[in-house]
Amino acid sequence: MWKFLAILASIAAIMFVFFGRKERSNDEIETLVKCDLCETYVTKKEAIASGGKTFCSKKCATEAKNDYDRR
Ligand SMILES: [Zn+2]
Repeated sequence: MWKFLAILASIAAIMFVFFGRKERSNDEIETLVKCDLCETYVTKKEAIASGGKTFCSKKCATEAKNDYDRR
């Protein structure tokens, strides 16, 4: 009986590791987007959307906005 439980526990552990890894690799294949100002590639999660454009940082978003306002 205990042997059966031990096998069941190891199967559960393998499943946990397998699915945990699968989830993590999905995060790594995060979509990359290009900064509209400095052309640096950042993940969609990190990117900042401003005025229909995408930027790598708040600094770029602000600079681009200032640039646009000047025109
Ligand atoms: Zn940038």
